[in-house]
Amino acid sequence: MKIDLAGQVALVTGGGRGIGRACSLTLARLGATVIINYWRSRDAAEELEKEIVGEGGGARAYQADVSDPGAVDAMFQFIRQEYRRLDILVNNAGIVQDALLLSMTLQDWTSVHATNLNGPFLCTRLAVEMMLRQGGGKVVNVASASAHVGGRGQTNYAASKGGLVAFSRAGAVELARKGIRINAVLPGFIETDMSLPVRQQAAGKLLERIPARRFGRAGEVANLVAFLASDASDYIVGQAIAVDGGLSAS
Ligand code: NAP
Repeated sequence: MKIDLAGQVALVTGGGRGIGRACSLTLARLGATVIINYWRSRDAAEELEKEIVGEGGGARAYQADVSDPGAVDAMFQFIRQEYRRLDILVNNAGIVQDALLLSMTLQDWTSVHATNLNGPFLCTRLAVEMMLRQGGGKVVNVASASAHVGGRGQTNYAASKGGLVAFSRAGAVELARKGIRINAVLPGFIETDMSLPVRQQAAGKLLERIPARRFGRAGEVANLVAFLASDASDYIVGQAIAVDGGLSAS
């Protein structure tokens, strides 16, 4: 199997760091021109842009808070003006704001949903508009094993990721006939800044729960994202696929 994304334009939200960075780099190395969306980490996104361009690929860093409808509108206006098409959307931007349920504030709840669920909704709606005009496209949503595996202090995060899985399934059913495929990936514990505190606090206990006995690497999630973003996975529609070392299977 050879994946060739030459001539395609991809948007990776939160694409400058962690799993998003690995997705941007992988898609670019497969030939796609990548818009690296970032929010606060401008340096990381611009360095990645330089790295990809230095390798002979196409990339552009673009700042937008995916939870802000106006900022998302402006980002898509930029994409329409600069590239005139969008073939791949990776809804990767996400945050955690853990708290036990009794002490969780409405703000903890809504801010996580604003980024993890409203963000994909806002971006997908505008991406689909472009994809419909082109006759197709792929959306890959980065959800989480937390959609299926309960974690203490993560009711807000788990609900947002469970919602993202349901969003992916319903959207896929609605849009498959138009040539737009939507799928989700469910990473387990992946070595990024997001999981660092929990990996530092309880590495031993966590590793006992993971059949593969190691944490995942961002590149391993990116490989699955790239496969789902390519024609090689053309008959996979509305699925949520785990990349978690067996965590959700045990
Ligand atoms: P990370 O290292 O903390 O990176 C989070 C990314 O999201 C950053 O690029 C950040 O951009 C971006 N972001 C956050 N809020 C944003 C906003 N409002 N607008 C635009 N971008 C925003 O986390 P990660 O581990 O790579 O996580 C990536 C995705 O994988 C998330 O959806 C996360 O829930 C999911 N996930 C991660 C794990 C794990 O173990 N790491 C497991 C399951 C699922 P800036 O830095 O520019 O602000």
